[in-house]
Amino acid sequence: MRNAPPLMSLNEALSCLLTAAEERPTIDTVYDTVYMPTIIANRRILASNLTAPINVPSFNSSQMDGYALKASDAIATGKTLLPISQCIEAGHIGVPLQPGTAARLFTGAIIPVGADTVVMQEDCEVVLTAEGSAIRLLHIPQAGEWTRYIGEDIRQGSIILSAGMRLRAQDLALAASVGFAVLPVKRPLKVAIFSTGDELIMPGETLTDGAVYNSNRFLLTALLENLGCEIHDFGISPDTLEATRTALKHASQQSDVVITSGGVSVGGKDYIKPALQAEGCLRLWQIAIKPGKPLAFGEIGSSFFIGLPGNPVSSFVTFLLLVRPFLLRLQGVVDVAPPSYSIRADFFWPKAGTRVETRNEFLRVRRNIDGGLDLYPNQGSAVLTSLVWGDGLVDNPPGTQINQGDWVKFIPYSEVI
Ligand code: AMP
Ligand code: MG
Repeated sequence: MRNAPPLMSLNEALSCLLTAAEERPTIDTVYDTVYMPTIIANRRILASNLTAPINVPSFNSSQMDGYALKASDAIATGKTLLPISQCIEAGHIGVPLQPGTAARLFTGAIIPVGADTVVMQEDCEVVLTAEGSAIRLLHIPQAGEWTRYIGEDIRQGSIILSAGMRLRAQDLALAASVGFAVLPVKRPLKVAIFSTGDELIMPGETLTDGAVYNSNRFLLTALLENLGCEIHDFGISPDTLEATRTALKHASQQSDVVITSGGVSVGGKDYIKPALQAEGCLRLWQIAIKPGKPLAFGEIGSSFFIGLPGNPVSSFVTFLLLVRPFLLRLQGVVDVAPPSYSIRADFFWPKAGTRVETRNEFLRVRRNIDGGLDLYPNQGSAVLTSLVWGDGLVDNPPGTQINQGDWVKFIPYSEVI
Protein backbone atom coordinates (compact mmCIF):
# COMPACT_ATOMS: atom_id res chain seq x y z
CA MET A 1 0.00 0.00 0.00
CA ARG A 2 2.88 2.36 0.87
CA ASN A 3 4.25 2.25 -2.68
CA ALA A 4 0.93 2.55 -4.46
CA PRO A 5 0.69 5.67 -6.66
CA PRO A 6 -1.59 8.38 -5.28
CA LEU A 7 -5.21 8.02 -6.29
CA MET A 8 -6.75 10.49 -8.68
CA SER A 9 -8.60 13.28 -6.85
CA LEU A 10 -12.34 13.75 -7.28
CA ASN A 11 -11.79 17.03 -9.13
CA GLU A 12 -9.33 15.48 -11.56
CA ALA A 13 -11.70 12.59 -12.20
CA LEU A 14 -14.64 14.91 -12.71
CA SER A 15 -12.79 17.09 -15.17
CA CYS A 16 -11.62 13.98 -17.06
CA LEU A 17 -15.24 12.81 -17.40
CA LEU A 18 -16.55 16.23 -18.35
CA THR A 19 -13.84 16.75 -20.97
CA ALA A 20 -14.67 13.35 -22.48
CA ALA A 21 -18.36 14.33 -22.56
CA GLU A 22 -17.59 17.65 -24.28
CA GLU A 23 -15.34 16.05 -26.87
CA ARG A 24 -17.99 13.60 -27.90
CA PRO A 25 -18.46 14.40 -31.58
CA THR A 26 -22.09 13.68 -32.31
CA ILE A 27 -23.98 14.96 -29.30
CA ASP A 28 -24.24 18.61 -30.36
CA THR A 29 -25.40 17.98 -33.88
CA VAL A 30 -28.88 18.67 -35.13
CA TYR A 31 -29.59 14.92 -35.06
CA ASP A 32 -29.63 14.99 -31.30
CA THR A 33 -32.42 17.56 -31.20
CA VAL A 34 -36.01 16.43 -31.17
CA TYR A 35 -39.20 18.49 -31.05
CA MET A 36 -41.39 17.59 -28.14
CA PRO A 37 -44.81 18.96 -27.10
CA THR A 38 -44.22 21.57 -24.39
CA ILE A 39 -46.72 19.83 -22.11
CA ILE A 40 -44.47 16.74 -21.80
CA ALA A 41 -41.05 18.45 -21.92
CA ASN A 42 -40.58 18.56 -18.14
CA ARG A 43 -36.94 17.75 -17.17
CA ARG A 44 -35.80 17.60 -20.80
CA ILE A 45 -32.80 19.66 -21.81
CA LEU A 46 -33.42 22.61 -24.08
CA ALA A 47 -31.41 22.21 -27.30
CA SER A 48 -31.40 25.83 -28.48
CA ASN A 49 -32.11 29.31 -27.15
CA LEU A 50 -35.78 30.29 -27.17
CA THR A 51 -36.56 33.76 -28.47
CA ALA A 52 -39.90 35.36 -27.61
CA PRO A 53 -41.98 35.84 -30.77
CA ILE A 54 -44.35 38.24 -28.98
CA ASN A 55 -44.47 40.80 -26.20
CA VAL A 56 -45.97 39.67 -22.88
CA PRO A 57 -48.38 41.13 -22.07
CA SER A 58 -49.18 41.69 -25.71
CA PHE A 59 -51.45 44.61 -24.81
CA ASN A 60 -51.78 47.07 -21.92
CA SER A 61 -54.06 45.43 -19.40
CA SER A 62 -55.61 45.88 -16.03
CA GLN A 63 -54.11 44.26 -12.92
CA MET A 64 -57.34 44.64 -11.01
CA ASP A 65 -61.10 44.57 -11.21
CA GLY A 66 -61.90 48.29 -11.36
CA TYR A 67 -62.19 51.26 -13.70
CA ALA A 68 -59.94 52.59 -16.46
CA LEU A 69 -59.65 56.33 -16.86
CA LYS A 70 -57.28 59.07 -17.93
CA ALA A 71 -55.47 60.20 -14.79
CA SER A 72 -55.35 63.81 -15.94
CA ASP A 73 -59.16 63.88 -16.06
CA ALA A 74 -59.14 63.29 -12.33
CA ILE A 75 -55.97 65.17 -11.44
CA ALA A 76 -56.16 68.33 -13.56
CA THR A 77 -59.78 69.10 -12.84
CA GLY A 78 -59.85 67.63 -9.38
CA LYS A 79 -62.95 65.93 -10.63
CA THR A 80 -63.85 62.86 -8.67
CA LEU A 81 -67.11 61.89 -10.33
CA LEU A 82 -66.71 60.13 -13.70
CA PRO A 83 -69.57 58.58 -15.68
CA ILE A 84 -69.13 54.86 -16.58
CA SER A 85 -69.16 54.85 -20.38
CA GLN A 86 -68.51 51.14 -21.17
CA CYS A 87 -67.74 47.73 -19.65
CA ILE A 88 -64.77 45.61 -20.89
CA GLU A 89 -64.29 41.99 -19.84
CA ALA A 90 -61.04 39.96 -20.17
CA GLY A 91 -60.66 38.76 -23.76
CA HIS A 92 -62.98 41.47 -25.12
CA ILE A 93 -62.08 44.68 -26.89
CA GLY A 94 -63.67 47.94 -25.85
CA VAL A 95 -63.99 51.21 -27.72
CA PRO A 96 -61.74 54.29 -27.24
CA LEU A 97 -62.51 55.96 -23.92
CA GLN A 98 -64.75 58.99 -24.09
CA PRO A 99 -62.87 61.88 -22.44
CA GLY A 100 -63.99 62.60 -18.90
CA THR A 101 -65.44 59.13 -18.34
CA ALA A 102 -64.34 55.80 -16.86
CA ALA A 103 -64.59 52.26 -18.31
CA ARG A 104 -65.63 49.39 -16.06
CA LEU A 105 -63.14 46.53 -16.59
CA PHE A 106 -61.84 43.32 -15.04
CA THR A 107 -58.42 41.81 -14.31
CA GLY A 108 -56.57 41.05 -17.54
CA ALA A 109 -58.89 43.16 -19.70
CA ILE A 110 -57.45 45.47 -22.38
CA ILE A 111 -57.16 49.08 -21.26
CA PRO A 112 -59.00 51.11 -23.88
CA VAL A 113 -57.26 53.71 -26.03
CA GLY A 114 -57.44 57.06 -24.23
CA ALA A 115 -57.11 55.56 -20.71
CA ASP A 116 -53.78 55.36 -18.86
CA THR A 117 -54.73 54.36 -15.34
CA VAL A 118 -56.78 51.79 -13.47
CA VAL A 119 -58.51 52.53 -10.19
CA MET A 120 -59.37 49.40 -8.28
CA GLN A 121 -62.99 49.00 -7.39
CA GLU A 122 -62.25 49.18 -3.66
CA ASP A 123 -61.03 52.77 -4.19
CA CYS A 124 -64.27 54.11 -5.65
CA GLU A 125 -67.98 54.22 -5.06
CA VAL A 126 -70.57 53.63 -7.73
CA VAL A 127 -73.28 56.29 -7.69
CA LEU A 128 -76.42 56.64 -9.74
CA THR A 129 -76.82 59.85 -11.73
CA ALA A 130 -79.53 61.14 -14.04
CA GLU A 131 -77.51 59.80 -17.04
CA GLY A 132 -76.78 56.36 -15.54
CA SER A 133 -73.94 55.12 -13.32
CA ALA A 134 -70.78 56.99 -12.38
CA ILE A 135 -67.85 56.40 -10.04
CA ARG A 136 -66.75 58.67 -7.24
CA LEU A 137 -62.98 58.38 -6.67
CA LEU A 138 -62.12 57.99 -3.01
CA HIS A 139 -58.58 59.22 -3.74
CA ILE A 140 -56.85 60.87 -6.70
CA PRO A 141 -54.97 58.11 -8.56
CA GLN A 142 -51.35 58.15 -9.74
CA ALA A 143 -51.06 57.98 -13.54
CA GLY A 144 -50.34 54.38 -14.60
CA GLU A 145 -51.65 52.79 -11.41
CA TRP A 146 -52.66 49.07 -11.63
CA THR A 147 -51.66 48.88 -15.27
CA ARG A 148 -49.63 46.06 -16.84
CA TYR A 149 -47.80 47.47 -19.82
CA ILE A 150 -47.20 45.80 -23.14
CA GLY A 151 -43.88 43.88 -23.03
CA GLU A 152 -43.46 44.54 -19.29
CA ASP A 153 -42.73 40.87 -18.56
CA ILE A 154 -41.16 39.73 -21.85
CA ARG A 155 -39.90 41.83 -24.77
CA GLN A 156 -40.49 40.42 -28.22
CA GLY A 157 -37.14 39.14 -29.60
CA SER A 158 -35.50 38.60 -26.21
CA ILE A 159 -34.04 35.23 -25.20
CA ILE A 160 -36.33 33.77 -22.57
CA LEU A 161 -34.73 30.33 -22.04
CA SER A 162 -31.15 29.29 -22.80
CA ALA A 163 -29.85 26.18 -24.54
CA GLY A 164 -28.51 23.59 -22.10
CA MET A 165 -30.95 24.21 -19.27
CA ARG A 166 -33.12 21.47 -17.76
CA LEU A 167 -36.72 22.51 -18.15
CA ARG A 168 -38.79 22.89 -14.98
CA ALA A 169 -42.48 23.65 -14.47
CA GLN A 170 -41.94 27.41 -14.51
CA ASP A 171 -39.80 27.21 -17.68
CA LEU A 172 -42.54 25.30 -19.50
CA ALA A 173 -45.09 27.88 -18.36
CA LEU A 174 -42.88 30.70 -19.68
CA ALA A 175 -42.44 28.95 -23.05
CA ALA A 176 -46.20 28.41 -23.24
CA SER A 177 -46.86 32.06 -22.33
CA VAL A 178 -45.22 33.17 -25.59
CA GLY A 179 -47.01 30.51 -27.60
CA PHE A 180 -44.57 27.58 -27.98
CA ALA A 181 -46.61 24.38 -28.41
CA VAL A 182 -43.45 22.31 -29.06
CA LEU A 183 -39.87 22.75 -27.88
CA PRO A 184 -36.46 21.73 -29.27
CA VAL A 185 -34.93 19.39 -26.69
CA LYS A 186 -32.02 16.96 -26.56
CA ARG A 187 -33.06 13.42 -27.31
CA PRO A 188 -32.96 11.18 -24.22
CA LEU A 189 -29.61 9.50 -23.61
CA LYS A 190 -29.68 5.73 -24.04
CA VAL A 191 -28.13 4.22 -20.95
CA ALA A 192 -27.55 0.46 -20.63
CA ILE A 193 -27.20 -0.93 -17.13
CA PHE A 194 -26.31 -4.28 -15.63
CA SER A 195 -25.27 -5.56 -12.24
CA THR A 196 -22.46 -8.00 -11.62
CA GLY A 197 -22.31 -10.58 -8.84
CA ASP A 198 -22.94 -14.33 -8.45
CA GLU A 199 -24.55 -13.57 -5.11
CA LEU A 200 -27.28 -11.33 -6.55
CA ILE A 201 -30.93 -12.33 -6.72
CA MET A 202 -34.00 -10.28 -7.49
CA PRO A 203 -36.74 -9.26 -5.05
CA GLY A 204 -39.46 -11.88 -5.41
CA GLU A 205 -36.92 -14.71 -5.39
CA THR A 206 -36.30 -16.78 -2.26
CA LEU A 207 -33.29 -15.71 -0.23
CA THR A 208 -30.74 -18.52 -0.04
CA ASP A 209 -27.50 -18.67 2.00
CA GLY A 210 -25.07 -15.98 0.90
CA ALA A 211 -27.48 -14.39 -1.57
CA VAL A 212 -28.05 -10.62 -1.67
CA TYR A 213 -31.01 -8.83 -3.17
CA ASN A 214 -30.03 -6.63 -6.10
CA SER A 215 -30.81 -3.19 -4.75
CA ASN A 216 -28.48 -1.32 -7.11
CA ARG A 217 -30.69 -2.12 -10.05
CA PHE A 218 -33.51 -0.18 -8.38
CA LEU A 219 -31.21 2.62 -7.29
CA LEU A 220 -29.73 3.15 -10.75
CA THR A 221 -33.04 2.83 -12.57
CA ALA A 222 -34.67 5.51 -10.43
CA LEU A 223 -31.67 7.86 -10.57
CA LEU A 224 -31.49 7.54 -14.36
CA GLU A 225 -35.23 7.99 -14.76
CA ASN A 226 -34.97 11.22 -12.78
CA LEU A 227 -32.44 12.40 -15.35
CA GLY A 228 -34.79 11.54 -18.21
CA CYS A 229 -32.60 8.73 -19.63
CA GLU A 230 -33.88 5.88 -21.77
CA ILE A 231 -32.83 2.80 -19.81
CA HIS A 232 -31.87 -0.57 -21.30
CA ASP A 233 -31.57 -3.10 -18.50
CA PHE A 234 -29.31 -6.09 -19.13
CA GLY A 235 -30.02 -7.74 -15.78
CA ILE A 236 -27.35 -9.51 -13.77
CA SER A 237 -24.04 -10.78 -15.14
CA PRO A 238 -22.24 -13.67 -13.39
CA ASP A 239 -18.69 -13.19 -12.12
CA THR A 240 -16.66 -14.62 -15.01
CA LEU A 241 -14.47 -12.77 -17.49
CA GLU A 242 -16.34 -14.25 -20.45
CA ALA A 243 -19.81 -13.34 -19.16
CA THR A 244 -18.68 -9.82 -18.24
CA ARG A 245 -17.12 -9.29 -21.69
CA THR A 246 -20.27 -10.53 -23.42
CA ALA A 247 -22.52 -8.32 -21.29
CA LEU A 248 -20.32 -5.27 -21.94
CA LYS A 249 -20.32 -5.92 -25.68
CA HIS A 250 -24.10 -6.32 -25.91
CA ALA A 251 -24.85 -3.39 -23.66
CA SER A 252 -22.55 -1.03 -25.57
CA GLN A 253 -24.14 -1.86 -28.92
CA GLN A 254 -27.42 -0.21 -28.00
CA SER A 255 -26.43 2.72 -25.88
CA ASP A 256 -24.63 6.01 -25.46
CA VAL A 257 -23.39 5.01 -22.02
CA VAL A 258 -23.04 1.67 -20.20
CA ILE A 259 -23.24 1.78 -16.40
CA THR A 260 -22.53 -1.28 -14.26
CA SER A 261 -22.41 -1.94 -10.56
CA GLY A 262 -19.96 -4.20 -8.73
CA GLY A 263 -16.98 -6.23 -9.85
CA VAL A 264 -14.76 -3.21 -10.30
CA SER A 265 -12.49 -3.59 -7.30
CA VAL A 266 -9.39 -5.73 -6.80
CA GLY A 267 -11.01 -9.00 -5.63
CA GLY A 268 -10.32 -12.25 -7.49
CA LYS A 269 -13.85 -12.22 -8.90
CA ASP A 270 -13.84 -8.59 -10.06
CA TYR A 271 -13.86 -8.79 -13.85
CA ILE A 272 -15.05 -5.37 -14.96
CA LYS A 273 -11.58 -3.88 -15.41
CA PRO A 274 -10.06 -6.73 -17.49
CA ALA A 275 -13.30 -7.11 -19.48
CA LEU A 276 -13.32 -3.40 -20.31
CA GLN A 277 -9.66 -3.50 -21.30
CA ALA A 278 -10.41 -6.46 -23.60
CA GLU A 279 -13.51 -4.94 -25.22
CA GLY A 280 -12.61 -1.26 -25.20
CA CYS A 281 -10.31 0.99 -23.22
CA LEU A 282 -9.97 2.04 -19.61
CA ARG A 283 -9.39 5.76 -19.12
CA LEU A 284 -9.61 6.05 -15.38
CA TRP A 285 -9.76 3.70 -12.40
CA GLN A 286 -9.95 4.36 -8.67
CA ILE A 287 -10.61 7.76 -7.14
CA ALA A 288 -9.59 9.30 -3.83
CA ILE A 289 -13.09 9.36 -2.36
CA LYS A 290 -14.76 7.44 0.43
CA PRO A 291 -17.09 5.76 -0.19
CA GLY A 292 -16.66 5.08 -3.91
CA LYS A 293 -12.97 4.47 -4.53
CA PRO A 294 -13.28 1.61 -7.05
CA LEU A 295 -14.81 3.49 -9.99
CA ALA A 296 -13.87 2.85 -13.61
CA PHE A 297 -14.38 5.02 -16.67
CA GLY A 298 -13.65 4.22 -20.28
CA GLU A 299 -15.08 3.50 -23.70
CA ILE A 300 -16.39 0.50 -25.61
CA GLY A 301 -16.91 1.14 -29.30
CA SER A 302 -18.94 4.33 -29.59
CA SER A 303 -20.28 4.06 -26.02
CA PHE A 304 -18.90 5.45 -22.83
CA PHE A 305 -18.50 3.13 -19.87
CA ILE A 306 -18.79 3.80 -16.14
CA GLY A 307 -18.31 1.00 -13.63
CA LEU A 308 -19.69 1.83 -10.20
CA PRO A 309 -18.73 0.06 -6.98
CA GLY A 310 -21.07 -2.71 -5.79
CA ASN A 311 -21.73 -1.37 -2.32
CA PRO A 312 -25.03 0.51 -2.60
CA VAL A 313 -23.93 3.66 -0.75
CA SER A 314 -20.79 3.84 -2.89
CA SER A 315 -22.90 3.47 -6.03
CA PHE A 316 -25.22 6.25 -4.88
CA VAL A 317 -22.45 8.67 -3.91
CA THR A 318 -20.42 8.15 -7.08
CA PHE A 319 -23.56 8.52 -9.16
CA LEU A 320 -24.32 11.93 -7.65
CA LEU A 321 -20.74 13.17 -7.75
CA LEU A 322 -19.61 11.86 -11.14
CA VAL A 323 -22.25 10.06 -13.21
CA ARG A 324 -24.91 12.73 -12.97
CA PRO A 325 -22.59 15.59 -14.00
CA PHE A 326 -21.24 13.43 -16.84
CA LEU A 327 -24.68 12.51 -18.22
CA LEU A 328 -25.85 16.11 -18.02
CA ARG A 329 -22.73 17.47 -19.73
CA LEU A 330 -23.16 14.87 -22.51
CA GLN A 331 -26.43 16.66 -23.24
CA GLY A 332 -24.87 20.11 -23.17
CA VAL A 333 -25.83 21.20 -19.65
CA VAL A 334 -23.50 23.87 -18.29
CA ASP A 335 -24.11 23.77 -14.52
CA VAL A 336 -23.53 20.17 -13.55
CA ALA A 337 -21.61 20.11 -10.25
CA PRO A 338 -23.73 19.39 -7.16
CA PRO A 339 -24.25 22.66 -5.28
CA SER A 340 -23.02 22.77 -1.69
CA TYR A 341 -23.85 25.03 1.26
CA SER A 342 -21.97 25.92 4.41
CA ILE A 343 -23.81 24.46 7.43
CA ARG A 344 -22.85 23.90 11.07
CA ALA A 345 -21.90 20.37 12.09
CA ASP A 346 -23.60 19.29 15.33
CA PHE A 347 -21.41 16.18 15.51
CA PHE A 348 -17.82 15.09 15.98
CA TRP A 349 -15.95 13.23 13.26
CA PRO A 350 -12.45 12.05 14.15
CA LYS A 351 -9.47 12.01 11.86
CA ALA A 352 -8.92 8.55 10.34
CA GLY A 353 -6.99 6.23 12.71
CA THR A 354 -3.30 5.54 12.34
CA ARG A 355 -3.19 5.73 8.54
CA VAL A 356 -3.33 9.19 7.02
CA GLU A 357 -6.62 9.43 5.14
CA THR A 358 -5.95 10.77 1.66
CA ARG A 359 -9.49 10.38 0.47
CA ASN A 360 -12.21 12.98 0.27
CA GLU A 361 -14.98 11.66 2.53
CA PHE A 362 -18.71 11.98 1.95
CA LEU A 363 -20.63 11.59 5.19
CA ARG A 364 -24.33 10.78 5.41
CA VAL A 365 -26.04 13.50 7.42
CA ARG A 366 -29.42 15.07 8.13
CA ARG A 367 -30.43 18.66 8.86
CA ASN A 368 -31.83 19.14 12.35
CA ILE A 369 -34.39 21.66 13.61
CA ASP A 370 -31.63 23.90 15.01
CA GLY A 371 -30.24 24.50 11.53
CA GLY A 372 -27.25 22.19 12.00
CA LEU A 373 -26.34 18.72 10.76
CA ASP A 374 -26.58 15.37 12.54
CA LEU A 375 -24.47 12.38 11.50
CA TYR A 376 -25.84 8.89 10.86
CA PRO A 377 -24.03 6.63 13.35
CA ASN A 378 -23.17 3.85 10.87
CA GLN A 379 -21.20 5.28 7.93
CA GLY A 380 -20.58 1.86 6.31
CA SER A 381 -20.71 1.83 2.52
CA ALA A 382 -23.28 -1.00 2.49
CA VAL A 383 -25.66 0.77 4.90
CA LEU A 384 -28.60 1.87 2.73
CA THR A 385 -30.53 3.02 5.81
CA SER A 386 -28.01 5.87 6.15
CA LEU A 387 -29.20 7.22 2.79
CA VAL A 388 -32.87 6.87 3.63
CA TRP A 389 -32.42 8.49 7.06
CA GLY A 390 -30.38 11.41 5.74
CA ASP A 391 -31.04 14.32 3.42
CA GLY A 392 -27.55 14.99 2.13
CA LEU A 393 -23.80 14.51 2.23
CA VAL A 394 -20.99 16.37 3.95
CA ASP A 395 -18.04 16.86 1.62
CA ASN A 396 -15.11 16.46 4.03
CA PRO A 397 -11.56 17.12 2.73
CA PRO A 398 -8.97 14.35 3.21
CA GLY A 399 -7.85 13.74 6.79
CA THR A 400 -10.01 16.48 8.29
CA GLN A 401 -11.39 16.23 11.81
CA ILE A 402 -14.81 17.81 12.30
CA ASN A 403 -15.57 19.34 15.70
CA GLN A 404 -19.04 20.24 16.97
CA GLY A 405 -19.83 23.72 15.69
CA ASP A 406 -17.48 23.62 12.67
CA TRP A 407 -18.86 24.85 9.36
CA VAL A 408 -18.87 22.11 6.73
CA LYS A 409 -19.84 21.74 3.06
CA PHE A 410 -23.30 20.20 2.77
CA ILE A 411 -24.73 18.80 -0.50
CA PRO A 412 -28.52 18.37 -0.20
CA TYR A 413 -30.01 15.42 -2.08
CA SER A 414 -32.99 17.58 -3.00
CA GLU A 415 -30.87 19.49 -5.53
CA VAL A 416 -29.33 16.50 -7.25
CA ILE A 417 -31.97 13.76 -7.31
P1 AMP B 1 -18.24 -5.74 -5.40
O1 AMP B 1 -18.00 -4.32 -5.77
O2 AMP B 1 -18.75 -6.56 -6.54
O3 AMP B 1 -17.04 -6.33 -4.76
O4 AMP B 1 -19.40 -5.73 -4.31
C1 AMP B 1 -19.20 -5.08 -3.08
C2 AMP B 1 -20.37 -5.38 -2.15
O5 AMP B 1 -21.55 -4.84 -2.73
C3 AMP B 1 -20.65 -6.85 -1.97
O6 AMP B 1 -21.03 -7.06 -0.62
C4 AMP B 1 -21.78 -7.14 -2.90
O7 AMP B 1 -22.57 -8.23 -2.49
C5 AMP B 1 -22.55 -5.85 -2.86
N1 AMP B 1 -23.25 -5.66 -4.11
C6 AMP B 1 -22.71 -5.76 -5.34
N2 AMP B 1 -23.65 -5.52 -6.27
C7 AMP B 1 -24.80 -5.27 -5.61
C8 AMP B 1 -26.11 -4.98 -6.03
N3 AMP B 1 -26.42 -4.89 -7.32
N4 AMP B 1 -27.06 -4.77 -5.08
C9 AMP B 1 -26.75 -4.85 -3.77
N5 AMP B 1 -25.52 -5.13 -3.32
C10 AMP B 1 -24.55 -5.35 -4.23
MG1 MG C 1 -18.99 -8.52 -6.92
